[in-house]
Amino acid sequence: MKKVEDRFNRPIISLRLSITNRCNINCLYCHHDGMMPSNEEMTPDEIYKILNVAKNIGVKKIRFSGGEPLIRKDIVEIIEKTSSLDFKDISITTNGIFLKKYAEKLFNAGLNRINVSFDTLNPKTYEKITSKDYLKEAKEGILKAVDVGLNPVKINMVLMKGINENEVMDMFNFSKKNGLILQLIELMKSENCDDNSFSEEYHFNMGPLEKDLERIATSIKTRKFMQNRKKYFIDNGEIEVIRPMDNTKFCENCTRLRITPEGKIKPCLLRNDNLIDLVGPLRKGFSKKKLEEIFLKGINNREPFYMDNT
Ligand code: SAM
Repeated sequence: MKKVEDRFNRPIISLRLSITNRCNINCLYCHHDGMMPSNEEMTPDEIYKILNVAKNIGVKKIRFSGGEPLIRKDIVEIIEKTSSLDFKDISITTNGIFLKKYAEKLFNAGLNRINVSFDTLNPKTYEKITSKDYLKEAKEGILKAVDVGLNPVKINMVLMKGINENEVMDMFNFSKKNGLILQLIELMKSENCDDNSFSEEYHFNMGPLEKDLERIATSIKTRKFMQNRKKYFIDNGEIEVIRPMDNTKFCENCTRLRITPEGKIKPCLLRNDNLIDLVGPLRKGFSKKKLEEIFLKGINNREPFYMDNT
């Protein structure tokens, strides 16, 4: 199996495919996975063909995101097709609302793990963040995912000053009780809000919180190929901290390439000026080798968004 690295010696291990821009909630903070608005989507067959090329250049892990991936009626077929390619890991990031309906089918289709964006246990706060009252559905979906055997089930909690920052311990206890891993995510700038005033107003400085976690953790691990994220083991529970903002270590250890819903290679979450069309050539019947060359061009376009210039 090939191992492909970019110009900054970062191996390409994982591919994150945004398979739709559609979503059934509207989170205050959402950065839409850095995608530009578009109604285009790839078919399961096109996704399969793209993944087949990705596999050939050494990608090992696949994550589906969006928009809301479970809004697609063919999501089980997409997972089935992906699973037939024998990747090391297949995962989905979802808001969990349709998980009660789909968790078992997805597990049987070959999905390994799942991340559920779930920022609060408080119904009023949930409604404030998502502008919908689906807290119960999301919570039941999370428990169903554990029940059917998806492992791990991680909770993505974006921390926002004055909104949910005071819920970290409640969320940790909920996670621990139900065998979940809690991921605390730093609020990033988002094109959703005109001038970034939202992320400036609600940005929560995770530094002091991390110091507290360091103090109470029985052990701490750094995940080198996962953007140098820190994992804290506390009282039989786990908290992972994701701090991408102005973080050169995060970028230095990024091993992820992205695909947009309309089938373009996106080398970085935070940029849209260096996308490369992949599904266009695929639809024109380009050979697998030619598609591989396009992938390699995308990888060659990668550069750390936050770079240590010292
Ligand atoms: N609809 C799916 C969901 O809700 O998980 C997938 C799409 S969502 C854009 C993917 C992830 O991006 C979620 O875990 C969410 O927490 C995270 N996210 C979105 N906007 C963010 C922001 N401004 N800062 C940090 N994380 C963000």
